[in-house]
Formats: sequence, C-alpha cells, structure tokens
Amino acid sequence: MDMVVRTNRAPNAGETLMGQAFALSPGGKGANQAVAAARLGAEVSMIGSVGKDTFGSEMLEIIKQEGIHIEHISVSETEATGVASIVIEEDGENRIIVVSGANMELSAEDIQMLAPVIQQAKLIVLQLEMDLAMTEQAVAIAHGYGIPIILNPAPARRLKDEMLSQVTYLTPNETEAGILAGMTVDSIETAEQAARILLQKGVKNVIVTLGAKGTLLVNAEGTKLVPGFPVKAIDTVAAGDSFNGALAQQLVSGKSLEEALRFANAVGALAVGKAGAIPSLPYLPEVENFIK
Ligand code: ADP
Repeated sequence: MDMVVRTNRAPNAGETLMGQAFALSPGGKGANQAVAAARLGAEVSMIGSVGKDTFGSEMLEIIKQEGIHIEHISVSETEATGVASIVIEEDGENRIIVVSGANMELSAEDIQMLAPVIQQAKLIVLQLEMDLAMTEQAVAIAHGYGIPIILNPAPARRLKDEMLSQVTYLTPNETEAGILAGMTVDSIETAEQAARILLQKGVKNVIVTLGAKGTLLVNAEGTKLVPGFPVKAIDTVAAGDSFNGALAQQLVSGKSLEEALRFANAVGALAVGKAGAIPSLPYLPEVENFIK
C-alpha cells in the first residue's frame, strides 16, 4: 500500500515541512505490474504475500477486482502488509522508502511448492521487492521449464551471474543498469555499454528504460532505441511497472519484441500522465487510441 505525500519540495535532514496532500493508494511493484498486464487483457495469476491487516485485505480485494487470480497470495500471521512511503515534489519527482513486511516472508521453499503453478505460465514477471533467494529460485524454476522470464531489477541491487544467465528480458532503468553492470549510466552510450556487460553474463535481451527518451534494446542482434511518447509528467510512480506489465501482455499475445516495446512505452507515458500507481494504469482502448 502506497502512502503518498505531495509537497512543494522534499524536506532536508532535520527539517519539517507542511505538505499539500496525503493519500493512500494501492501499489507495490508486483501488484502494479500484475494490474498493468490485466488491464491490457492478459490473464494474470499473482504469487505474493500480504499481512493479516486492513491494508492486506484491501490489496487483495483490489487485485481480485482487476480479475487477477489471488489463490497464490498468502496471508501472513506475523508480518504486516508491505508499505511504501512516497514523497512527490511539485515537478513530479519522487522519493520512495519501501518496508517489505509480509513480502519477505515468501521463501525459496514456498516457491518450490508453487512450481506447478509457474509451470502453467506462458511468461513470468519478477521484481526485487521480495526475498532474493525466493526470486532466484522462481527464476530457476521458470528457466527449467523453458518459460520466458521478465526480470525488472528494481529496487536496484547487484545480482548473481547465475540468475542473470537465466533471464530472457532484463528491464533496468538507467540507475539499475549502472548498479547491475558496476558502472555509471547517464547517457544512451553508457546504457548500451552496461547492457553489453549484462549480455555477457548471459541475459538474452537487455531493455534499459530511459524515462521520456523511451527504451534501449540490446541483444545478440544489435542495439535499437525505441523512442518514448512525449507527455507532461504528473507523477512518475509506476512508470517502470506499467511498462513491465505491458511488455508481458504484449509478448504473451504474440507481438514482436519491438512492437511490444513501442506499446509498453505508450503505457509508461500514459502512467506518468496520471497520479497514483494502480489508479494511473491504462486500459487497452486508451492505449490503442493514444498510439495511433
Ligand atoms: P522507472 O520508473 O523504473 O524509473 P523509467 O523512468 O525509465 O523507469 O520509465 C519507464 C518507461 O516509462 C520509459 O521507458 C518510458 O517508456 C515511460 N516513461 C517514463 N517517464 C516518461 C516521461 N516523462 N514521458 C514519457 N514516457 C515516460
């Protein structure tokens, strides 16, 4: 659950400011990505964990209302539902602190028990707000079944080469690409260099998201810049998540990678044009209308 504060500017250390507005808003990377894909028409099953608390029941209800299968979301007896404290400045820039809570409870053993669920998927999408050993195990299971994997390596952290070697589509933003590759990424050129380092580790396709500039696809066939769609940024929360959900839906529906990336850029642009995480995620007709 996102707890969102709007302010003219973020406070400095030790400073107290009066903010402009506060809202509770359903979010979390996994939920955002799942809802983004579902709103575009994908059949989605979510694996995860919430707490036995108000936020947990609310999140489950919201996800269920989106038509997402929730049977494999467990309810923790001991840990609270994961929350994010989000500060949004006037210019749309955001600062986020995530407290994982119940998300961290799902273990590598738990996911192993869910291998038959993973086996039925056409594609799986993962991010790094869950326990890393569990995530590594989920990647290994999907890879073992030959199921394509989108790994959104966010929040940023370094990953084992073994895990990277099993990833079909790695979708870092510039900061995450830099951390994964161990270098500074601040331009299209450096994004490509970082992507090449990651390809050498065995990732099949590196897709660096470049904010308003769009995305850079780097794979064995070469490098391709897929330009973004210009919009006025209202709130950049969930840009990457909406992009990943859209990419998953497009790939599952048989689109080429380049078509899928163009479409996902449009979805990312629509998401930054609206406030909130889940509330900002577009439905299919809106995207089709925007893209033509
Ligand atoms: P993250 O939200 O993970 O930091 P990005 O900022 O790179 O990721 O955004 C993900 C995608 O969303 C981009 O590749 C782009 O398609 C779209 N996007 C993000 N910001 C903008 C923007 N200001 N204008 C248009 N599209 C955007």
